[in-house]
Amino acid sequence: MAKEEYAIGLDLGGTKILAGLVDRTGRLIARKQLPTYAEEGEKAVIERVLSATHDVLSTSGINSEEVCGVGIASAGVINSDSGEVIFASNLGWRNVPIGTLIGQKFGLPARLFNDANAAAVAEWLWGAGVGTRNMIYVTVSTGVGAGIVSDGRLVSGRDGSAGEFGHISIDWNGPPCRCGNRGCLENYASGTAIENAARQKLASTKKSGTNRILVEKGELSAKEISEAALAGDPFFAQIVKQAGFYLGIGAANLIYMFNPEVIVFGGGVMNASGLMLPEIEKSMRDRSISGLANEVRVVTSQIGVEAGVMGAAGGVFESNF
Ligand SMILES: [Zn+2]
Repeated sequence: MAKEEYAIGLDLGGTKILAGLVDRTGRLIARKQLPTYAEEGEKAVIERVLSATHDVLSTSGINSEEVCGVGIASAGVINSDSGEVIFASNLGWRNVPIGTLIGQKFGLPARLFNDANAAAVAEWLWGAGVGTRNMIYVTVSTGVGAGIVSDGRLVSGRDGSAGEFGHISIDWNGPPCRCGNRGCLENYASGTAIENAARQKLASTKKSGTNRILVEKGELSAKEISEAALAGDPFFAQIVKQAGFYLGIGAANLIYMFNPEVIVFGGGVMNASGLMLPEIEKSMRDRSISGLANEVRVVTSQIGVEAGVMGAAGGVFESNF
């Protein structure tokens, strides 16, 4: 095989670090997962990132001369040019030059991506966005984010932070958001929002039973709420559908801004896609000019938990990214 047919992808998450060696066709050749243990501090986490990177190289048997670079996907605020994680609350990091550290250690160019942007690249190259030039990937998990591919290029913005879809305001007078704005989409449509909505709704009804007790104790996660909804609980189904309704309002805004061919929805909360996608489509189409909305496909993601790793590696292959 010719030189530089591989790239390393790293996904820095609050609970796990995932490293993978990926080839140009999107095959994951080797992977290594380590717990993050962010509470042990920045140095310890960086050591584990380096160790996971080293492991995928050594277990794959691929010579580092055949690797064209390392892509790193991180949540939070990043600077893709300097390779710095400026602020990531899930890692407890401020101004960590992780790109430079990895680049120096392995003698390879390293690039940093916002995690939603990395997942968008993976879906565009090898998943639900294959064959399109205009695709938007929306992740719905603890928060809401997006990665935008427009005219075949990732829209990364000035420093790699474009696509903060969760913080577009859908109600100017809505509740304050952690970002400083009011009425942000993720306050209505994220996993956290679903948990809050369940708590508020139960507080104002007489519904009893195990679910009520769990919700009141804060022990019913969005995942369990959507599982209950999928299993046929109408009380929880209504909450999950409501989140879909709000995501559709956001999606209408995306249509006006980017004229996409497809909008891909992924992230943990979309395990209830059977309930959410029809709601998303309905409110999206109700709120956008039919000529623009009719041809837009709304689908679920095809690449699962490895999307961050795959996309970070894919971003290294593609000069457009
Ligand atoms: Zn916000």
